Amino acid sequence: MSLTLEALNGASPDQAQQWLTGLYEHSPWVVALALKQRPFKSLAHLKYALVRGVREADPEAQLALLRAHPELAGKLAEAGTLTSESTHEQQQAGLKACTPEDLAKLRELNAAYAAKFGWPFILAVRGPRGTGLTRQEIIATFERRLGHHADFERAECLRNIDRIAEIRLNDKFGVEPLLGNQVWDCAELLAQHSDAGYAELGQLTVTYLTDAHLTCQAQLLRWMRECGFDEVSVDVVGNVVGLYEGADKNAKRLLTGSHYDTVRNGGKYDGRLGILVPMVCVRELHRQGKRLPFGFEVIGFAEEEGQRYRATFLGSGALIGQFNTAWLDQRDADGVMMREAMRAAGLDPLRIASIRRDSTRYLGFVEVHIEQGPVLNELDLPLGVVTSINGSVRYVGEVLGMASHAGTTPMDRRRDAAAAVAELALYVESRAALEPDLVGTIGMLNVPNGSINVVPGRCQFSLDLRATTNEARDALMHDVLAALQRIAERRGVSFTLEETNRAAAAPSAPAWQALWEHAVQASGLPVYRMPSGAGHDAMKMHEVMPQAMLFLRGGNSGISHNPLETITNDDAQLCVEAFQHLLDELAAELE
Ligand SMILES: [Zn+2]
Repeated sequence: MSLTLEALNGASPDQAQQWLTGLYEHSPWVVALALKQRPFKSLAHLKYALVRGVREADPEAQLALLRAHPELAGKLAEAGTLTSESTHEQQQAGLKACTPEDLAKLRELNAAYAAKFGWPFILAVRGPRGTGLTRQEIIATFERRLGHHADFERAECLRNIDRIAEIRLNDKFGVEPLLGNQVWDCAELLAQHSDAGYAELGQLTVTYLTDAHLTCQAQLLRWMRECGFDEVSVDVVGNVVGLYEGADKNAKRLLTGSHYDTVRNGGKYDGRLGILVPMVCVRELHRQGKRLPFGFEVIGFAEEEGQRYRATFLGSGALIGQFNTAWLDQRDADGVMMREAMRAAGLDPLRIASIRRDSTRYLGFVEVHIEQGPVLNELDLPLGVVTSINGSVRYVGEVLGMASHAGTTPMDRRRDAAAAVAELALYVESRAALEPDLVGTIGMLNVPNGSINVVPGRCQFSLDLRATTNEARDALMHDVLAALQRIAERRGVSFTLEETNRAAAAPSAPAWQALWEHAVQASGLPVYRMPSGAGHDAMKMHEVMPQAMLFLRGGNSGISHNPLETITNDDAQLCVEAFQHLLDELAAELE
């Protein structure tokens, strides 16, 4: 029989401890520590208590926990001395079916890993979906993680221990994240389609109106129909639009969605998560025959990333009347005009203005998105509530100094353009660090035709500054520009600087942010508020209606715009449940 939270909360410490035996390899102290936090409000709360126990333990105890783990397919497996949990998990992951070559490779990796870190390689072999990683995935992960710095890898091992415990706990409670699995599986299926030239490399790239893009569009359309949306269509810019009518067909609507295009060699969840999660919510509403007192409109935005053409947010931009028709004349790298690409896809560029939404017919916009950063992962929190989408300003510039002989030009006679930009980069770093949530980056620093024996005479650079408010962004911008002026004067160099992009900050609407906060609270997890460092479709919708976003933790330290981008099915489940909570609370408010 499965364990229940009620039973666990009511049990004696010894009984509770016994029920949770085996979650952590030979380390009952973790469970003992977590049990002090009873009563648990939810399974997510219990998991969080366990994770925090591990994280706050002293380093010696953590190291002992790491060392209590068996080597992957190592000597222990051969000797048959694994705990029954580990044996089962390693078998599910196909490690028993290793070829002699795989085993030899694993042994080699085990040895190199132990020599570098001093503890065994720890991997949740049942993986992010809970069904088991393939041998190839395990070996690839092993090889990649061998390259980590020790402190980083230690934290990664602890997070894998958390995941192992999470899956074991689900087994004990007989819980399966069914809604999370739906999201996870759809993301996986959608990621099967990739642009020509990338698909062959096993990379995910879906740019505006390519064959893969249209296939994704058709797939989303089909899924929306299957989920039970009342109206499903593709609009004139390629957005997939699903409407789940409210009890009253004329009621105002809640709008949600995110983008289904990707960057080149991107991840499976960036954008798509924000379409799939509300789709699963509608599937559940439809299955239960439930109507909300508001219409629920879910949009898969056709384009957000600006990969094929030099324009971004084509999908959400069109909805707010900001699709610049001059973009239609832009050509992609192959010379295909946007206008032609749209016609070829059966879209009508002349009717773009017609899809502009009348904001008075909407309650607001919410968006779920993968965090695309390391913060939630480090805090062991699956969900984060966005307070504001950062405002930004971008420049490209060039410093002009004097190219001269690296051997004959004394240090006090130089006009080194690259050193000037380097000094600016250090200034940006220290200035941005003065205030929380400010970021500044010089991501490009290029010495054209530079040479090993020449003092750089020119240095091209980029500048990207972001802040949660326009005021903070502008203050940062002002200081950075003043610093550049000072640096140039002192070093006797000149510069040019061109502003290429400026975006206003989009603070969340308090009432909508509160809805997400309540949803996180209801999951039994602490509410964590954070700014969004990246731009999202919500930033566009912000211009015409109130908006608020929810972030979902990404694994692999939150890496995004990268094939390593990942989420677990359990986190996806929490995300769906949070969205359902938001819908329920909004319904209660309106009824
Ligand atoms: Zn995105």
